[in-house]
Amino acid sequence: MLPSRIAIFPGSFDPLTVGHVDVIRRATTLFDRVIVAVLVNPDKQAIFTAEERVAMIAESCGGLGKPGQVAADAFEGLLVRFAARHNACAIIRGLRSGVDFDYERPMASMNTHLASDIQTVCLMASDRYAHISSRLVREVASLGGSVTGLVPPSVEALLLARLKGETKTHP
Ligand code: ADP
Repeated sequence: MLPSRIAIFPGSFDPLTVGHVDVIRRATTLFDRVIVAVLVNPDKQAIFTAEERVAMIAESCGGLGKPGQVAADAFEGLLVRFAARHNACAIIRGLRSGVDFDYERPMASMNTHLASDIQTVCLMASDRYAHISSRLVREVASLGGSVTGLVPPSVEALLLARLKGETKTHP
């Protein structure tokens, strides 16, 4: 039997958007297993804790693909180390524009330098989601705009509750 092909999809996911979900769904058609990896970055102020983000990904994406094909986890430190620990052969990234490409190009080269057996696979953003970013979703929500259709319904509810209920942010 061929070894299973495991891919890591890393990001901040603060919050998870329908653009992320689209990339994860498409990745399940290419890889046997997709591990969505939430970057724990103590230097960055976030709306949701890493645990909350892992939970929202598990809830919204756990049913994609075959049972158990998508998992969510948090990671700190070098991505290639996390990828190697999970026997991953690929790192997935989404490209919305040239700005994303310019950011990904040196990252991919550096990750190849660190772990030449792990490929970076970039998926083009779907036309209908290419304008969506977590940053813009946070901005729209904090200004009272509607984020319906930009994030999964359960994430929308959490986001509204968080913005209404508290001003505290988490690492
Ligand atoms: P952000 O969504 O704020 O850019 P993330 O770090 O959460 O930040 O993104 C994780 C990955 O998902 C990155 O590769 C990013 O380019 C990709 N991504 C984000 N939004 C989209 C989208 N709407 N369509 C496709 N890929 C996306």
